Amino acid sequence: MTASFLDHITATLGTIRTDGLYKAEREIVTPQSGHIAIADGGQRRPMLNLCANNYLGLADHPEIIAAAHQALDTDGFGMASVRFICGTQTVHRALERSIADYLGKDDAILFAACFDANGGVFEPLLEAEDAIISDSLNHASIIDGVRLSKAKRYRYANSDMDELETRLKEAEKDGARFKLIVTDGVFSMDGYVANLPAICDLASRYGAMVMVDDCHATGHLGPEGKGTPALTGVGHRVDIVTGTLGKTLGGAMGGFIAAAQPIIDLLRQRARPYLFSNSLAPAVAAGSLKAIEIARKADDRRLKLMRNTSRFREGMVKAGFEVLPGETPIIPVMLHEASRAQDMARELDRRGIYVAGFFFPVVPKGRARIRTQMSAALDDADIDRAIDAFSDAARSLGIV
Ligand SMILES: *Cc1c(COP(=O)(O)O)cnc(C)c1O
Repeated sequence: MTASFLDHITATLGTIRTDGLYKAEREIVTPQSGHIAIADGGQRRPMLNLCANNYLGLADHPEIIAAAHQALDTDGFGMASVRFICGTQTVHRALERSIADYLGKDDAILFAACFDANGGVFEPLLEAEDAIISDSLNHASIIDGVRLSKAKRYRYANSDMDELETRLKEAEKDGARFKLIVTDGVFSMDGYVANLPAICDLASRYGAMVMVDDCHATGHLGPEGKGTPALTGVGHRVDIVTGTLGKTLGGAMGGFIAAAQPIIDLLRQRARPYLFSNSLAPAVAAGSLKAIEIARKADDRRLKLMRNTSRFREGMVKAGFEVLPGETPIIPVMLHEASRAQDMARELDRRGIYVAGFFFPVVPKGRARIRTQMSAALDDADIDRAIDAFSDAARSLGIV
């Protein structure tokens, strides 16, 4: 290692810091939940958590923990193999079948993360004579996955259906053999749902297929939590769904792709993050299987999540905050300037509210925000306390 290389890296870190973009991690000393505690100078400091993807509050669910415990006893700790060599247990196939049944597809395939699912889905399915048409706000893993495929890339401005149509026409003019439109189901920075009915209509008109990354929806949006395709009534028209076990469905880890049988079969042969990466740990697979079973029946939790969402949303508007409109439990509180979002996050931290500020380059310049996420693990009193803390913090900074 040359000293000049480390100097170079240190200088880059310095730039990240002076730009105010350095991400420091706080250490949590409890299970993930609505009420957590962080380590603070050797002390435990209780916090109300408003930024987990723990939408249904399943991350510390006793039945899921019990299922994972049991799998440790019956199936062991790790697989020490990729799936196709000696890494497929009954629980892996049971989980894949459960995901496929849940989302109304023929079959599903597991990955270590949805990042890997999105990284591995395009390259085996599409070739140089094909076209991928991608929303500009799609998740980083989709952007990377698209880059790894040889297909021709087209990009449309976020949710701009006119531009999507223009791109479809372009792809057609360019002689694309197969066309795939890909979108997030929920745009996670803004918290709104993709216009899937319009996307599916355009797909039909131009003979394209549709893929939805439903990480921020599977488990809590739509009937039985089947996600944005079901929510918007186009479940049967979406060809490929990718999703995560690391958010609503227990929040451990793992990703999946659900689609028609030949697609899944080919991905098992060719998807590189599947072929060259270890199987999910049996305890994670068993816990996730239980999480899906619970999520499907969890109308009570979905109702509570939606009630918390409207209570927080309405309370914040009443308190004078600007929140982005939307229909999901993601509620961005707009502060516009990065420094303001950071100051607010710091003041909220001091008041026992755990949130994260988002600013450029994660969101556009001048669109800095605190992204709050509601959870069924929160109660009315928690929501009211959070709103009061926001108001108090804003007053202390002379904002609202
Ligand atoms: C969280 C997320 C991912 C990544 O999922 P992991 O399972 O954590 O890798 C991919 N796409 C979207 C839209 C996400 O929100």
